[in-house]
Amino acid sequence: MTDRKRDPLLIVLSAPSGSGKTTIVDRIITSLVGIQRSVSYTTREPREGEKNGEDYVFVSKEEFERMKENDEFLEWEENFTNYYGTGRKQVEDMLADGLDVILSIDVKGARTAKKEFPESISVFIMPPSIEELENRLRRRKTEVESQVALRLRESKQEVAASDEYDFLVVNNKLDQAVEEVKQLIEKERDDRKRINKKAG
Ligand code: 5GP
Repeated sequence: MTDRKRDPLLIVLSAPSGSGKTTIVDRIITSLVGIQRSVSYTTREPREGEKNGEDYVFVSKEEFERMKENDEFLEWEENFTNYYGTGRKQVEDMLADGLDVILSIDVKGARTAKKEFPESISVFIMPPSIEELENRLRRRKTEVESQVALRLRESKQEVAASDEYDFLVVNNKLDQAVEEVKQLIEKERDDRKRINKKAG
């Protein structure tokens, strides 16, 4: 059951590749009620184990271009030579249903999303260190060496932009990081409920 007394919340979450973002988001949506993640569209190839419609909607470059032309994206970016985008209708429908929505997107996309939805909250998941990030990327073994180097360079740039975010959570210990993100979502829900009560 969703709580009709408050406006739904949009959470814009960014984290460099390999910082544990997917696990954090999965844990949040399974342990909090009334929250969903937006499944992004991408032109990159699925990694082993990734499911179409669950991890991403995997589309061709042509299909992505068509959607871009039709203004079907709330935001989109090119990352590591592939396109990634958030479906506008998907997000608007979930919010209209009273669900909170998490967008798990990169720093550039987060800037656009924040402009489109100024009431959203933005969260940056910080890796414990660049060394640890590199270890995690290599352990994952899903990228070839040139991709690891590319992602690492991009990650360093993303960390440099982390002060643009409303909240910063360091993923030192996964359980603790999940708990911190959950707590800040719950606090935001409470604050907004209180404000709505006063207003209405
Ligand atoms: P990956 O290929 O590792 O799944 O994702 C690469 C990067 O693209 C990550 O930083 C991820 O957050 C970002 N990303 C995933 N979906 C979207 C999206 O819809 N929009 C934007 N701007 N970035 C996205």
